[in-house]
Amino acid sequence: MEKKTWEIQVLSPPHILKYCKKCGKKVEFTCSGQFRVNAQRRYLDVWLIYKCIHCSATWNAAVFSRVSPQSIPAELLDGFYRNDEALAKRYAMDIAFLRGNGVEAVPPQYSIIGDSFSPNEAVELEIKPEYSLPVRVSSLIRAKLHLSQKEYLQLAADRTMRSIPAQDLRKCRLNDGITLIFTGQP
Ligand SMILES: [Zn+2]
Repeated sequence: MEKKTWEIQVLSPPHILKYCKKCGKKVEFTCSGQFRVNAQRRYLDVWLIYKCIHCSATWNAAVFSRVSPQSIPAELLDGFYRNDEALAKRYAMDIAFLRGNGVEAVPPQYSIIGDSFSPNEAVELEIKPEYSLPVRVSSLIRAKLHLSQKEYLQLAADRTMRSIPAQDLRKCRLNDGITLIFTGQP
């Protein structure tokens, strides 16, 4: 059985959906890549700033709220002050962080790096996302292998495509990654 790997590269962090007071409706906000650090005497607040894509309104996603400055490693704190790009991306890609801030993420644009193949071949396919990505496995497979919804569901139904560990391939999401086995046609 041939082994293949697909790497999923995220082109930009997800937009989030949030009510914009200025626009008067729920709209998309994009991550500015900037942190705001507010250091009081005893407490520290850190936010990641989002901007409405239609107007100049901003929204702050709480990274740390009223924590002791000593509780944050100096290197991390320095990253917030420097608006470290990789650090901002790490938070902006973190669906649990966004959910904790009470907002919904719009699935980001991504590209699939790796070889396509025929679902009739015997292949062990590992799909590895750069960041945890809540996109449906069916969307990825169908896009890359050029399958219709019906063809995809048929592969799952007759178990010529299965996952390790076993998941419901009709609706499971990629999240931290998945391994699929294509048994090939007899
Ligand atoms: Zn707005």
